[in-house]
Amino acid sequence: FNAFGGIGESLGAFSRIRELLDIALENDYDVVPATPLTSNPMAQGTSVYFKKISFGYNKLKFGSELAEKEENLILKEITLRAEKGKRTAIVGPSGAGKSTILQLIERFYDPDDGQIFVHEKDYRNYSREELRKLITYVEQDSPVISGTLRDNLQLGNRKVNDSDCIKVLEEVNLQHLLSRDSKGLDMQVGESGASLSGGERQRLAMARSLLSSAEIVLLDELTSNLDSLNEMGMKKAVDKLKGKKTVIVVAHRLSTVIDSDIIYVLEHGRVVGSGSHNELIDTVPLYRELAKEQFVDREM
Ligand code: ADP
Ligand code: MG
Repeated sequence: FNAFGGIGESLGAFSRIRELLDIALENDYDVVPATPLTSNPMAQGTSVYFKKISFGYNKLKFGSELAEKEENLILKEITLRAEKGKRTAIVGPSGAGKSTILQLIERFYDPDDGQIFVHEKDYRNYSREELRKLITYVEQDSPVISGTLRDNLQLGNRKVNDSDCIKVLEEVNLQHLLSRDSKGLDMQVGESGASLSGGERQRLAMARSLLSSAEIVLLDELTSNLDSLNEMGMKKAVDKLKGKKTVIVVAHRLSTVIDSDIIYVLEHGRVVGSGSHNELIDTVPLYRELAKEQFVDREM
């Protein structure tokens, strides 16, 4: 411990750094420009529009000039349109930059180049607080709190009543939980949701996003092998969002990709193709490859 000056001291230093970072972020992001930043015709009809977005993480560590070097860019001139009320899928090999795209939409980071539009406006028009109200992010390890099903569904919206809860559990294909231990909404989910499977935890987070007023749902699908029951549940849950929310899904399951209104194929931070499932099967070898792998996975 001596070399590091003791663990307590290190933690103290760490939390101070966090504090400083948080303050810096709040200052950067919560400033709303006096004159609204210009719109763009291509953003029309979209909930999210990426215009030639380039981004690298390295500047966080080494200073901004490094990120501009091509090899340090994780996303390279990404243009994508997520139309309002539609489902947009992003597929690609692990490390391609899919989750990074979702993190930029959430404004965890700002792009190095290009422009992001949310509801047809440059997203710098919104404070971080406002963006958080417009967008929910359902990630692979979405937080589930210890407590009951009801506690989890009311998180962030205390006005949600029992019949809302029951309805939404059916929508995300979790109605079986209500009868699991005959406690209904009083069922205990265990320490951080320990009595639920990974797929069930993620769907519970989806249920929460359905109950929220956010119109945009970002869904980072589970990569680990889902059993077929969970995979079917996920597909049904995503289908239920149709027409209610704009869904951007980072998909590893063909089942949630095929029915998407548009699919973007990402490779090494670049869009190498976009279109419907059938179009991509015909025209993009990488997509064909990914699709083939999925079918192999399914057979196992
Ligand atoms: P995907 O979701 O397609 O698997 P990611 O967006 O998670 O890909 O990651 C894209 C690349 O960015 C990877 O090379 C990954 O190692 C890198 N990366 C992801 N997050 C960070 C981070 N916080 N700092 C530095 N590099 C990161
Ligand atoms: Mg990812």
